[in-house]
Amino acid sequence: MPATIRQCAILAGGLGTRLGDLTATTPKPLLPCGDRPFLAWLMREFQRFGVEEFVLLTGHLSDAVEQAVEALARSLPRPARITLSVEPVRAGTGGAVFHARDRLDERFLLCNGDSLFDGNLSRLLAAAAATPALGWMMLRRVPDASRYGVVTLEGNRITAFQERPAPGAAGLINAGVYLLDRTVLDRLAPVCSLERDLLPRLAAEGALRGVQADGYFRDIGIPEDLARARSELPAVLRRRALFLDRDGVINVDHGYVGSRDRFEFLPGALEAIRAATEAGWHVFVVTNQSGVARGLYTEAAVQVLLAWVADEARAIGGTLDDVRYCPYHTDAALPEYRRESDWRKPGPGMLLDLIRAWEVDPLRSAMIGDQPTDLQAAAAAGVPGHLFGGGNLLDFVRPILAR
Ligand SMILES: [Mg+2]
Repeated sequence: MPATIRQCAILAGGLGTRLGDLTATTPKPLLPCGDRPFLAWLMREFQRFGVEEFVLLTGHLSDAVEQAVEALARSLPRPARITLSVEPVRAGTGGAVFHARDRLDERFLLCNGDSLFDGNLSRLLAAAAATPALGWMMLRRVPDASRYGVVTLEGNRITAFQERPAPGAAGLINAGVYLLDRTVLDRLAPVCSLERDLLPRLAAEGALRGVQADGYFRDIGIPEDLARARSELPAVLRRRALFLDRDGVINVDHGYVGSRDRFEFLPGALEAIRAATEAGWHVFVVTNQSGVARGLYTEAAVQVLLAWVADEARAIGGTLDDVRYCPYHTDAALPEYRRESDWRKPGPGMLLDLIRAWEVDPLRSAMIGDQPTDLQAAAAAGVPGHLFGGGNLLDFVRPILAR
């Protein structure tokens, strides 16, 4: 079963009453946070883990969300399909999912549109790929859980939801991010609550599992927390980036590798990607693929192979946030690929495009390659370069991440 989940539904129909006038005409997820709506930050995070389609579950002020869709899509670093599912009545969080049932995939992610958890989502993807269950949810450990309900975890099975514990008691709480199998839709009513109805029922059935993660969390339900999100979020989510060459760094350079049967991971490669994801870095692949220009394989084959590498990374708890490849070469056999390109390393084009799309600070990032041309590309993009001479990539990456 692939670890990557392509679809994410986002609960965006709340009234936002605790925010008073702020949400009189603007739905809570669209409140500005830095230079864009809060929702744009949230969607951008999910794109890092392979989400390509968002279903916005709306109700209250749905028209405002619809009007924002184009700008949201433009603000994202990767292409996305964004659609709306409008609840016909005040349906509650479970009802909102019920009314979107015809749009939802076999397995889909679901999250609150008014909170953001910077925990490694691939922990959830990896666990769910290894152990299928009707429901998986992200859990956040907090030192004082007295403001929240807590869960009881046995292994990774959630056996109960409990009321608020006494002040000062640590606990595991719902982080508002779920991975659901669409058969759970049979358990939903047109008006119901995810938290009060569906999750406790799944737990009672033994069908709900949880994954713990740490990380920044912010809910924008009250003005004080919205103000904190506005000041903190842009800095928290402007991450450092690990740029990786492909052949000779992630996989053995057998020469013009265009298919999975010739793709051999180098030792520690997937583990290095996971370590970078865990450390909160973006992980990008930047790879010259003149095999396309030479007619040895197609661009589609390059994309399929890189998507598979990304899924392998997610299956062990890391992610490839994005990739760039250069299919061009001046000696191309195929005329449509015969050209000079500043995307071809030692040109910096691929790195510069990722830096722009993901708003990365190059100086705080790192590029790892096995050729001098990789380091020339990095230098031209303002990214510190590191020449990998073989061995275990995780061992090589660890000190770089610790810097
Ligand atoms: Mg190489």
